[in-house]
Order: sequence, then structure tokens, then C-alpha cells
Amino acid sequence: MVILKTSREIAAMREAGRISSRALQEAGKAVEPGVSTLEIDTVVRRYIEKQGAEPSFLGYGGFPASACISVNNVVIHGIPSAKIIIKQGDIVSIDVGARFNGYHGDNAYTFACGDVSREAQTLLDATKQSLYEGIKNAVAGNRIGNIGNAVQRYVEARSYSVVRDFVGHGVGAKLHEDPSVPNYGTPGRGVRLLPGMTIAIEPMINQGTHRVRVLDDGWTTVTADGKLSAHFEHTVAVTKDGPVILTLPD
Ligand code: MG
Repeated sequence: MVILKTSREIAAMREAGRISSRALQEAGKAVEPGVSTLEIDTVVRRYIEKQGAEPSFLGYGGFPASACISVNNVVIHGIPSAKIIIKQGDIVSIDVGARFNGYHGDNAYTFACGDVSREAQTLLDATKQSLYEGIKNAVAGNRIGNIGNAVQRYVEARSYSVVRDFVGHGVGAKLHEDPSVPNYGTPGRGVRLLPGMTIAIEPMINQGTHRVRVLDDGWTTVTADGKLSAHFEHTVAVTKDGPVILTLPD
């Protein structure tokens, strides 16, 4: 069941989104050669807790950390670890959620550690832009398929592939609500978008095959072919005046 939010609820989600966005910025500043992903997770957790908010992911389904930190061929759900040390040239996807006043904000960004290869940079640029192509289509009267189709067309035109096994989602008082928001689809298909819907749009885009596999830890999701993957996400409200990004820093 899709839960529509009032403008007051959307304003409350904007607060959670601001904290989540700033926590992600802090995480990005911490991405440096020699830093462990556990250290970055600590930065995220401290920032969120200092704002009087809670990390949405900590304990969610048993997830042991505040951020998902996914390096290079890791697509999503990388578990922060003291043993995973970031190197110059890595791409580091960080996914952060914060719960504040009863609502979640959910966002992700793939950071480059120093100079990365041209291939990696192009993947980052395309994945980031595909998120905005999706957001442009988060318009009342459209259907969910319009969003996924816009993402898919943009990246496939650049020979990248869209992860199928994981998708975006509604977000609000719960971290994951209806509807599912795939990053692929057909225009005019799927749930109709209505003012008051709040959704996390989160393209996960691979350099090679779209296929992924989950490691034995039950979380870490990697590309099946070992090639790179990138992930960008915003929480977005569908309003009568068009899409509004809720996970912005100010
Ligand atoms: Mg999400």
C-alpha cells in the first residue's frame, strides 16, 4: 500500500533528508587513501547522532553499521570494516539513511578517491546523471515505469547496464515502503504517481553485466563479472508542482 504524505509530513521528511544528506557529505570528505570503511562509518554515525537523529540502517534487518560502503566492484550493501582500506583510484559508494522526528531520509553517492581512471569517471558521471533523468520523471500522472525507463535509456545508450535484483522504494515513516521503484521499465506501466508520494530513486549501474551476486555474509553484493558499479540516490517527493528532492544539505 502506497502511503501518501501531507505537505506537513513532507516538510518533516525534508528535515530528515537534510541530516542524511549532510551525513553523506561528511562521509565523502572522509574518503581518502588509507582510510578504512569502518572509520567512514563512524563519521556517519557520529554526525547523525549529534543531530539527535538515528542511523536508519543500523540494525535494519540485522545490518551491523550506519552506512553501506561499497568499493569498486561492490554494488551495494558493503559492510564497513577495519580491514577494507580505501586506495587512490577507488570508487566508493556510500549509502546513508537518517531517521528524524519519525521519518527517514535515504541517499547515496559514489565518491572518487583521488584521480580515478577515465572509465571509472565516465561510469560515475553517467550514473549520477541517470538519477536526475529518473527524478525529472517523478511527476504526478506519470507511472513508475516512466522513472525506470528514463534511467535505463540514459545508461544503456552509454553501454552500461541496470542492476535488476535491487530497486528503489517508497520511503517515509518506514525506510522501505511501497511502491518498488525499478531502474528499468516501460513508460506508462506500473503504479501511477500521485502528489504526496515519497520515493527513493537509486540507480545501481554496472560497467559490464547487470548480474550481481551476494557474498556469504548475506549483504555484500558484487558484480558477477568483477567490473565496476556505481550508485546514486535521492529521496524525492512527488508534488503538484513537480518533483522535490528531500535529501539536500541546505
Ligand atoms: Mg534506498
